[in-house]
Amino acid sequence: METFIRKALRLKAHTVVKVEEDEAAGALIVHLDRLGHRRLRCGVCGLEATRLAPTRRPPRRWRDLAMREHLVELVYAPYRVWCQRCGLRVEHVPWAGQWQRVTHALARAVAELARVLDWTSVAVHFRLNWKTVAAVVEGAVLWGLDHRRWHPLHLLGIDEVSRRKGQQYLTIVYDLARGRVVWVGRDRTTATMDRFFAWLGPRRARSIHTVCCDMWAVYIDAVRTHLPAATLVFDRFHLSQYLSRAVDEVRRQAWRRMAGPEKGEFKRTRFLWLTNPENLRRAERTRLSALLRLNSPIVKAYLLKEDLRRFWEYRSTAWAAGHLRQWLWRASHSRLEPFTKLARMLRSHRAGVLAWTRIRMPNGALEGMNNEAKVISHRAFGYRTPWTDIANIYHCCAGLPLP
Ligand SMILES: [Zn+2]
Repeated sequence: METFIRKALRLKAHTVVKVEEDEAAGALIVHLDRLGHRRLRCGVCGLEATRLAPTRRPPRRWRDLAMREHLVELVYAPYRVWCQRCGLRVEHVPWAGQWQRVTHALARAVAELARVLDWTSVAVHFRLNWKTVAAVVEGAVLWGLDHRRWHPLHLLGIDEVSRRKGQQYLTIVYDLARGRVVWVGRDRTTATMDRFFAWLGPRRARSIHTVCCDMWAVYIDAVRTHLPAATLVFDRFHLSQYLSRAVDEVRRQAWRRMAGPEKGEFKRTRFLWLTNPENLRRAERTRLSALLRLNSPIVKAYLLKEDLRRFWEYRSTAWAAGHLRQWLWRASHSRLEPFTKLARMLRSHRAGVLAWTRIRMPNGALEGMNNEAKVISHRAFGYRTPWTDIANIYHCCAGLPLP
């Protein structure tokens, strides 16, 4: 048993003194000590220490991978060593990182499982404290960010996810060509974007030719300032969101004014107006076509929404531009306030909307990535800080290497 553990931990300057079983805790306690007079290393710089201090640190414990149903715990009292560079330091232990409470092997297993499960489940699985899991993942992310290979960015996506029911946001920058998260930052303000571009640096920014984002003024301004040569595109995903929101607003306003039988007619129809008709079931489609015969602002809004959907099918920019011009005219004369507002917004960002027909983004690339980030950030509610959220998104979506 001792030999097996010594080999598994790849000990050179240390050895296993004895292994005892703690029956109450269902754990194996592995006692380690220095092997003979082997040289020890400095815990800060890794240099071989010239001599040892007379006193040792009190025993520390590290959790290791479990053996069958037994938890494994290492116990060792580290030496204090004299390092030529750093002075008096605690020795380097080869089985764990400097401040880690778990061994490298367990940390690796935790980090791998945390890519697919939320942290609470990971903690339960390894019988660890949630905070230990958080510390392991954060350590893995910091290491991964330091060691990731840089690929030139061409197609950038910028989007936000909300933390805790709105109000608080994270800005996520994606490499849309590779489908990876590049950067995550707190809030969605000008300061956030400045931090991103400061981090990116002008040299790495030079390869970016297209940026896809929401019509959020802060993002637009930041892109125009820092990447004047890049094409700005507003993608279909965000435009569809705006359209759906406008339809829903018209529906709610109209619903409030309705009374009696009319109200019954439009009861529970929200999803009919917001779902794409090809995704409706037959009975639902029948109901929708009956409703469409009625003269209601909701119907008008719905038809406007469906009409703009045709815009995405054009191959020629000129035709698409013509369609958009007509649509904007109809929307601004619709006497539906949410649509006049939307038309005003689209008109002021017309170039970015039309850029779509020339660039043909991988359809739904930004949407897919954003949904993934949303799921990950919403999967664990309660105990999070912005930094744990950011670490989690990096860990699951950035494709970082593991230590
Ligand atoms: Zn040192």
